Amino acid sequence: MRCLSCHKLSFSIICQSCDKRLLVPTVTKRKVGTLEVVSLFKYKNIETFLLTKHTPVGFRIYKYLGKKFVAPFVDNFIQNIEEEISVVAIDEKVNSGYSHTALLSHFVTDNNALVSHAKLLAKNSVNYAGKSLSFRLENPRNFSYTGKPNIQVILIDDIITTGVTLQEAQMELMRHGVEVIFALTLADARE
Ligand SMILES: [Zn+2]
Repeated sequence: MRCLSCHKLSFSIICQSCDKRLLVPTVTKRKVGTLEVVSLFKYKNIETFLLTKHTPVGFRIYKYLGKKFVAPFVDNFIQNIEEEISVVAIDEKVNSGYSHTALLSHFVTDNNALVSHAKLLAKNSVNYAGKSLSFRLENPRNFSYTGKPNIQVILIDDIITTGVTLQEAQMELMRHGVEVIFALTLADARE
């Protein structure tokens, strides 16, 4: 195949030299209410890759980012913990042929990690892109959690903007006695 960025022949969707040059993580933390959110990249730095989400190469890009960055981060965190930790991605709805958030959690392999899919779905699929905080607050996602109660989870999403979505997800999980240890997103869109 060809590298999405430089178009040279490559074994993966992003070639090694573009990976080294363009995919340099900038890990940041922010607090949204009581929720700690860790982001691996600044949105601007990987925007071209994230914008492929609803295009034919989006599947390969999200798979690449999940495997190369999200899964190792989670595995590395969990390996120092004795208890079982669940990994739950936000709203794994199939869109453009695949669920982009499911790809982000899919490659976690640690023995103490339990990856469960499609357990936290939004009943309201309103599009938040470019919308204000007040619009987001007035149009909640209405998450519904159908996974195990009373567990500890790492919550996964692709992008954090205001944090409203993650907070809403956390509240739904709390209703089921689920403690969110932290949320992990690929990119922080805060300026
Ligand atoms: Zn390249």
